[in-house]
Amino acid sequence: MNEVNPPKKPLLYYGLIVIVIMLIVNFLIIPAMMQRKIQEVDYGTFIDMTESGNIAEVEIQTNQILFTDKSNKNIYKTGLMDDPELVSRLHASGAKFASEIIEGTSPFLTLLIYWILPIAAFTLLGKLLSKKLMDKAGGGMNSMAFGLGKSNAKVYVKSSDGIKFHDVAGEDEAKENLAEIVDYLHNPNKYREIGASMPKGVLLVGPPGTGKTMLAKAVAGEADVPFFSISGSEFIEMFVGMGASKVRDLFRQAKEKAPCIVFIDEIDAIGKRRDNRIGGNDEMEQTLNQLLTEMDGFEGNTGVIILAATNRPESLDPALTRPGRFDRRVPVELPDLKGREAILRVHAKKIKLAKDVDFERIARMSPGASGAELANMINEAALRAVRDGRAFATEADLEESIEVVIAGYQKKNSIMTDHEKLIVSYHEVGHALVAAMQTHSAPVQKITIIPRTSGALGYTMQVEENDHVLMSREEIENKIATYTGGRAAEELIFNSITTGASNDIEQATKLARAMITRYGMNDEFGMVALETVTNQYLGGDAALACSAEIQAQVDRKVIELVQQQHKKALGILSDNRGKLNEIAKYLYEKETITGDEFMRILSSAPALDRDRMQMLNQ
Ligand code: ADP
Repeated sequence: MNEVNPPKKPLLYYGLIVIVIMLIVNFLIIPAMMQRKIQEVDYGTFIDMTESGNIAEVEIQTNQILFTDKSNKNIYKTGLMDDPELVSRLHASGAKFASEIIEGTSPFLTLLIYWILPIAAFTLLGKLLSKKLMDKAGGGMNSMAFGLGKSNAKVYVKSSDGIKFHDVAGEDEAKENLAEIVDYLHNPNKYREIGASMPKGVLLVGPPGTGKTMLAKAVAGEADVPFFSISGSEFIEMFVGMGASKVRDLFRQAKEKAPCIVFIDEIDAIGKRRDNRIGGNDEMEQTLNQLLTEMDGFEGNTGVIILAATNRPESLDPALTRPGRFDRRVPVELPDLKGREAILRVHAKKIKLAKDVDFERIARMSPGASGAELANMINEAALRAVRDGRAFATEADLEESIEVVIAGYQKKNSIMTDHEKLIVSYHEVGHALVAAMQTHSAPVQKITIIPRTSGALGYTMQVEENDHVLMSREEIENKIATYTGGRAAEELIFNSITTGASNDIEQATKLARAMITRYGMNDEFGMVALETVTNQYLGGDAALACSAEIQAQVDRKVIELVQQQHKKALGILSDNRGKLNEIAKYLYEKETITGDEFMRILSSAPALDRDRMQMLNQ
């Protein structure tokens, strides 16, 4: 998995080399070869050579005479004189009149320059190109190079890097589902005897980085069968028909090696819905048709099982998902709290980590992270430890790497002025205070005003006690209020507003809109879907599903809702102005404070009272 491939040189690189060689040959070597032999002689020498009968061929041009001697090795030239007897003298000496001396002098040179060199250059270029194309065809995938022939490279990786189900953490439902296939590959007779046939194709559906590829490899690893892997995009080639021939080739090999697993990643690249596409894409359609034909062409019991992965299941052509093809769908969702902890533990084994790391806490801090992101966080933590010259990574490294994944790296030399820093402090504490003063809000974990490379000038991290499956109306409203809390604090304290709230505004608006158009949480519209969501695994694209009139009403409601929550946030902050000042100043000095520090200040006696008490005591 962590192989380091030598950097591949681009195709252009080889093309350029060939072109440079041709240019050198054409402009330097050939002229040099030609000029080497032309000797300039005076007219007297020419006459002497004519008279001694030493001229083999002669060409009289308009301003000069070219001629060769009897040995035919040298070409001479001399100026043209007014010599009426010249032709008859040459004739008498036995010289031959040639039309083009230079070309005619060396037939081999002509052959070399005009035929052999160009053909050699193009053959070389063609070879390099086809080799590159074959390399590109992926993992040694058999490919047709310019349709000239097939390579015999093997496609499969035996036992798929040795990945087993226990390497894939969490995803228990998916593993359960796939265990049946492993069992079938182990005991096909058990299934055959009863007349059951396995699904030919299984579609692994889920967001990127959730372990779909790993699961496919694990199936092959558990069953100890060959694993053929190719990405959908690798089928799409420069020339129409090549994708289809790759599919044929893949299945031919797979059938030879059955039982085996064929894994097609990103199947949406070839399996997109064919209808309502303008223009169409011949190559894709032919490839898809070939895939369908191949799938129909073998029986369920041949032992070839096709696993395919996609994160846009709704874009697939229905022909692919009908019974007999990819009729089993296995969701591979983002891991829950337990799943995240398990994934962290699996990957933590690969690095040197302090003994006392609280994985559950780290898992709780990373809601919504995919397996790939969690694996990345572990690696980031190890990198940070190396950077600091430590022998092992700690929990603090893991915490920092979560923040790196969420918000980017810390900007060490930020150019914030002190006043800006103060505004950001108030802004962040505004969020935190509004969150803390409402019920149903996730506790504040950390507040920081250290800018990050993502552009965030600071942020407040809230961590839920548990993963939420459902959110109530009140919870969403509170969340919107929390988003508006930053701007509200700026208004209250500085009586002016800044651009710092742009991300908050976006998030608050998104939530408010979803409440109305998707969650049916507005009394006026009720349970009517006003928006449909596609691409749910890739962030979700919402498309309006209502009239322009309703849309205008929705917009108004969204504005009202956000305004209401903004007002609520302002109210909370002005009621707790003392705490806002106290915590913001503390944050300004410390730059980062923990949730515990925040809560300690919040629940201590109000600053004003403390001052008064001190005065009374004196
Ligand atoms: P997908 O195919 O869903 O995009 P991959 O299977 O390629 O995701 O996962 C990418 C990487 O993320 C894996 O190599 C692995 O390191 C890590 N990963 C993802 N999910 C898991 C998991 N459930 N358990 C362990 N590691 C995981």
